[in-house]
Amino acid sequence: MSGEERSYRASGIVLGSRALGEADRIVRLLTRECGKLDAVAKGARRPKSRIGGRLELAGRVEMMLHRGRSLDVIVAVEERSRRWAALVEPERLAVASLALERVDVLCEPAEPVPEIFDLLDATLEAVAKSARPHRFIARFSLRLLDLLGSMPPAERCCICGDMLEEVAWLDASEGGLLDAKCRRPHREEIALAPIDRENFAAVGRERGVGAAVEARPQTAAAIEALIAHYCARPLRVSAEPGYAYGPV
Ligand SMILES: [Zn+2]
Repeated sequence: MSGEERSYRASGIVLGSRALGEADRIVRLLTRECGKLDAVAKGARRPKSRIGGRLELAGRVEMMLHRGRSLDVIVAVEERSRRWAALVEPERLAVASLALERVDVLCEPAEPVPEIFDLLDATLEAVAKSARPHRFIARFSLRLLDLLGSMPPAERCCICGDMLEEVAWLDASEGGLLDAKCRRPHREEIALAPIDRENFAAVGRERGVGAAVEARPQTAAAIEALIAHYCARPLRVSAEPGYAYGPV
C-alpha cells in the first residue's frame, strides 16, 4: 500500500463518541465520502488536545484519516461549522440529539449517501438558529426515510395499490398507508384525512416546488410512528454501553 492509499480526506459530522483507554476517544461520524464510520482520535481527552477540541458534537469537520488495522485514525481536523455553543439550549439540543440518533440508528456503516449528509448538515444548521427547532423533526425524519428508500407513497394503499380516497390509516408495522379494505383496525393506527396526506407528501418532498416544512399534527404523528418502526427499538436509549450522544 502506498502512503497515499493509507490516508484519505473526508468531510464528517460528529454523531457521538466514547472513551477509549486513558486519553483517546472513538468518534462516530457520518462522512459524506464513506458513510458512517468510527475513528480513533488519539489523545482527544487530554485537556489541550487540538484534535479533541475540534471534534464537537454535531459539528462539521474536514479530516485527514489514516487507515488502521481495525479502526481508522483521525490525524488532522479542521472545523467547518461549529454549532455546539448554539445547540446548548434544551429544545435545540433535544432536536439535534434526535437527528443525530436517527441517522446513527438507520444508516449502515460504510454505505455513503451524500444526500443524507447534506440533509443532516442543513437540519443541524437550521436547528442551531431556530427559536422553534421542533418544527424541523418531522421533515428531517421523513426525508431521511425517503433517502433510505423507506418513505411510503401518500396516495396509494401500500397493500393493494389502490388510490386512496377519503380517510386512510397509517399502519407503521405495514410500513405505509392503508385503505378501508386492507385496514385491520388497532390502537396504533393513525387516521389521515386527504389534507393530512397532501401534507405528508409535501413534507417528504425534496426542497423546491410543493415542499413543506410544517407537518400537521396527524402527519407528524404518522411520521413518528413510521420512524419508530424502522428504528425498531425505543428511541432515546444509548446505542451501546458507554456511548453518549453528548459533548465529545
Ligand atoms: Zn388496500
